[in-house]
Amino acid sequence: MKSNLTAPTNSGEPAAGWLKKYSVPIATYAIFTLIGLIVWAIRDIRYFALFNGIGTTELVTRILVINNPRLRQPMRRLVQIIVGGILLIMLGFVFGVNFQFEQIFFDFQAGVVTGALIQLIIARLIIPFVFGNAFCSRACWDGAIFEITNRKNGRNFKRKPWLAWAYLILLVAVAFAVAHYFTNPAGDENELLRKKWIVGQNLFIVGGGYLLTMLCGSRAYCRLLCPFMTISSLLYRFSIFKITPVKSDNCTQCGACSKACPMLIDVKESVRNVEKVKNSQCILCERCVSACKRNVLKVSAKKAI
Ligand code: SF4
Ligand code: SF4
Ligand code: SF4
Repeated sequence: MKSNLTAPTNSGEPAAGWLKKYSVPIATYAIFTLIGLIVWAIRDIRYFALFNGIGTTELVTRILVINNPRLRQPMRRLVQIIVGGILLIMLGFVFGVNFQFEQIFFDFQAGVVTGALIQLIIARLIIPFVFGNAFCSRACWDGAIFEITNRKNGRNFKRKPWLAWAYLILLVAVAFAVAHYFTNPAGDENELLRKKWIVGQNLFIVGGGYLLTMLCGSRAYCRLLCPFMTISSLLYRFSIFKITPVKSDNCTQCGACSKACPMLIDVKESVRNVEKVKNSQCILCERCVSACKRNVLKVSAKKAI
């Protein structure tokens, strides 16, 4: 008797082939649903609704892209707007949940746990083992604004790990100083102050990021300073899904993939070496995949070919 895995589907396509074809959307949905269940157990059902909603959005849009690759970038931007919009506008501006880095330390001083720590653990310490820095290209609201405002300008100031860590330590020190010497924006009683902080912090990141990009090249804040990137890029090497050359022989070394990369990664070089994109700044935006007319690149867990 045939196992279920090889039984034909209604369309005649073997179920194993179907599972393989949709492995990324299914894995994405499963991960977000699992995270939702865990956070529901720890906090409340609204978190399950949030994560299951993100997982469903990813599932549907990724299936659409597999069947029509031209939708890849429009669908990614749609996800970015939906997820980033929910996190910033609904949870941030309406409910006063601050997801920015320093809030973790405000909360620490106030003895509470909020979305800031949950976001750090999920988006920066769990998801990176599967999808690297994908949060940056599919959920970060500041990243969505950078996509519109940050342009390549021929500059490419290289990342210096010491600079990124120095900025992270400075942020921690500022957060402790603010909470200690001024009013701590944590806690229900300080919701208005926290909302003002959310607005100010995001304006600082978007405005500062724009200036930095003019001086140091595309997505400079993300590449050089963002504390979330500093943490998640440590785990990038363990990520299961990475940008992978799947038909290196088809490559003409035209360079369109490298030219499309907002993080200034030399994708063409990875293809030449028949290896995955190993640069820990990759945000899995798949612009390189979309730019390649010879279908050389794919997000995959398999070896480069
Ligand atoms: S690096 Fe930071 S600011 Fe940039 S997209 Fe990622 S989380 Fe957002
Ligand atoms: S865009 Fe495609 S063909 Fe051109 S260098 Fe990149 S992988 Fe090769
Ligand atoms: S290597 Fe590709 S997926 Fe990674 S950041 Fe560059 S364009 Fe995006």
